[in-house]
Amino acid sequence: MAKHLLSKSTYIKSLQCQKALYLHKKRPFLRDKMSAVQLAKFRRGTAVGVLARNLYPGGIDMTPKSPSQYQIKRDETLLALQNPEINVIYEAVFQYDDVLIMLDILVREGEKWRAIEVKSSRVLSETYLQDAYLQYYVLKGNEIPLIDFELLYVNEDYELKDELKLAELFISQSVMLPAEESLEKTASQVLEAKATLQLTKSPEVSIGTYCYKPYPCDFIGHCWKNVPQNSILYLSSQTLQQRFEWYNNDIQLPEQLHNAELSDQLMALNQQKLFINRNLLLKEIGNFDTEKPTYLKFLFHQAAVPELKGMKPYEPIILAVSAFQPSNTVQQIHNWSCSAESAEWKSIFQFLNKLWESSSAFIVHEDRVFGEFAKKADEIRQEIKWVNYADILPKSDFMIPSISENPDQKLIQQHIFPNQKPLKDEAWLLKDLLDDPAKNSKKVSLQLEQYTKNLAEIHKYLTSSIEI
Ligand code: SF4
Repeated sequence: MAKHLLSKSTYIKSLQCQKALYLHKKRPFLRDKMSAVQLAKFRRGTAVGVLARNLYPGGIDMTPKSPSQYQIKRDETLLALQNPEINVIYEAVFQYDDVLIMLDILVREGEKWRAIEVKSSRVLSETYLQDAYLQYYVLKGNEIPLIDFELLYVNEDYELKDELKLAELFISQSVMLPAEESLEKTASQVLEAKATLQLTKSPEVSIGTYCYKPYPCDFIGHCWKNVPQNSILYLSSQTLQQRFEWYNNDIQLPEQLHNAELSDQLMALNQQKLFINRNLLLKEIGNFDTEKPTYLKFLFHQAAVPELKGMKPYEPIILAVSAFQPSNTVQQIHNWSCSAESAEWKSIFQFLNKLWESSSAFIVHEDRVFGEFAKKADEIRQEIKWVNYADILPKSDFMIPSISENPDQKLIQQHIFPNQKPLKDEAWLLKDLLDDPAKNSKKVSLQLEQYTKNLAEIHKYLTSSIEI
């Protein structure tokens, strides 16, 4: 059989954008660097898939060691199906209509087979469903008699007791019926993707929201290189959807949008400055004794499979924190860290409560994980005043020339203090700490310290009366 043209990942890429598929296959050197967040997702997905095999033990593993083995493993899979002594196959390899798939788990049930694909997430996205429909299409093409096709995903309500119970950790959902109903559509999507790969030059596709959704595309650096820096697409205070609506209606530069409410933001975008409504910002921050603020930076870990008793999947724990108190007689830094496998992380609550005794406000810039954590952290003193810039900036008409709808601290720092050394991505810090805590803990603490000091500068800059 001829070598395949498409895999699950390239097919999914084609659904996001045909040009992305073409560039991926024909111009891979134009690809952007893989982000830390994408890398972390990839590693997590693989680990959870392997763990789920224990629900169906004793299988044979068809995982190819390299792409050169795909065809061998496909042949071996077909042979294994005929062998009555083999009842479970992991990473079964099939090919049909030039599409190659590797199915996580295939289980024999009488004369038929149960196909199982494992997802490490808490919800089944449209992408996961499309991925499953493609696999079903290929299995059907191979005339594999199926009793069911199911997706296993993580049960967010599962709580780890004394030992891990896989049957409770995962939720199963049959997708055989919708996959069957989608066969025709899947076939036509495969056809379209294959046609794209026959082109002699990249298809004409203009940029759109799909460059970022459902996943940031690998070729943004290439396709967006001619978008001017003051393009309306970088008006970060508006949703990407809204920005593209203007853009597609030929409103591409700030002066073309006549919107009185946004006039200050548009002017700032034109001048490549940030904008904030200081009155709103100060109202949001509220009153606190400005003599004793403490700036904090947390590093959260969310394990798909809970590692500590009493924890649920993806429940955040704090692996490290740095606190900076600039206003005491001597500037002070407090660092705290722990390992992912130890319940000692709960001592963070004492650390924070103690710190509060010499503080008037805890100032942070943390994303939604912080919110998830704070909701459940009833061991933390209720009277602590938290000022979270990630929450209050959107309420203060904040705009920074950027594609991001939620600019993070690193981005804001780069804009305000372009000559400072950029902060290291949190996802990389987390990876360093999880990979080798003994070796990397000091290095990570230093970076977190940098975050806190930098936040102090941002706070001063945004709240002071100097012209922005
Ligand atoms: S950046 Fe956008 S237009 Fe370019 S390949 Fe990716 S999704 Fe398609």
